[in-house]
Amino acid sequence: MQGDTLLIKSGGAAALTEWQHHFARLLPGLRVYGWDDPFVDARSVKYALVYQPDHGRLAHYPRLRLILSAAAGVDHILADPTLPVGIPIVRMVTDETRERMSDFVTLSALAIVRDLPSLVVAQREGRWANELTGRLARDTRVSVLGLGELGRAVAARLQANGFQVSGWTRTPKPLPNLRVFAGAAQLDALLAETDILVNLLPDTLATRGILGRGLFARLPPGASLIQVGRGAHLDTQAMLDALDSGRLRSAVVDVFDIEPLPPESALRRHPRVLVTPHIASTVSYAARARQVVSVLDAHRRGEALPFVYDAVRGY
Ligand code: NDP
Repeated sequence: MQGDTLLIKSGGAAALTEWQHHFARLLPGLRVYGWDDPFVDARSVKYALVYQPDHGRLAHYPRLRLILSAAAGVDHILADPTLPVGIPIVRMVTDETRERMSDFVTLSALAIVRDLPSLVVAQREGRWANELTGRLARDTRVSVLGLGELGRAVAARLQANGFQVSGWTRTPKPLPNLRVFAGAAQLDALLAETDILVNLLPDTLATRGILGRGLFARLPPGASLIQVGRGAHLDTQAMLDALDSGRLRSAVVDVFDIEPLPPESALRRHPRVLVTPHIASTVSYAARARQVVSVLDAHRRGEALPFVYDAVRGY
């Protein structure tokens, strides 16, 4: 590890000092440089920790051994058409990622059952809306699309808050205390029993556009959506139409095709849509640096790496 170089593109120049501070403490021998540092010798770069790397740049380092995503998804890396092949790409998953996502989805689900958006509107309008008593979590069926690192944690937290929770995976996966539906053949059955749908799928060819007209039509009228996966999953116009027809009652949307969401987007003004700026699970640099160090340690020892992107599965 002594003398190895880690190149970072995450958080911009302002964040570099913080990254360097954490790595200096955790792994003093590691040389840490910013993405645009003109003095980096390309041949010395062994590791790259990146978010939305400029296309073509990762192919520029002949001794690159690991690509570490600064985020849980890797879509922002795979978008590079000249991405070097055969170099493992490691997703960023930490306990803090699971916890923050669990906090956010639980907050959103409780906001939905207690009609928080309508209460906020009523307050602004000076109305004493004491008819907005909401419903009980325990009478509410939440379906989590994707029971991976985050989906499983979210499902457990929702259950702990009293919700009736089911989940959906690609491959059959019995999980204790959870009703699991698997594959396209079982999706309709799950949707038919859903009051709140949570999207925690990865962005793959099979899942892109999944939150579209066909899916909304299969939900019970008045269901709600919590969209925390990736922007590419959602057909925004289909969601707006489903909201206007009453098929969907409300939505919390944290991820978008274009970020920041353009000011003119209809989503920003819809009274039953809560828009958040991709903050469902933004993890501290400290936690991410710890995770990077544990991956580098495993790599150095020749151990199996955790959370490696699998190109055959697509996630
Ligand atoms: P994982 O890769 O750990 O889990 C993916 C899950 O989705 C698995 O359960 C997998 O099934 C399931 N899945 C994949 N393809 C399909 C399919 N075609 N049909 C049914 N199920 C499928 O992902 P994570 O839990 O780490 O991340 C989930 C999502 O959260 C990602 O989209 C990520 O980008 C997003 N995210 C969003 C953040 C935010 O702030 N908004 C922050 C962090 C992550 P199986 O179990 O069979 O493999």
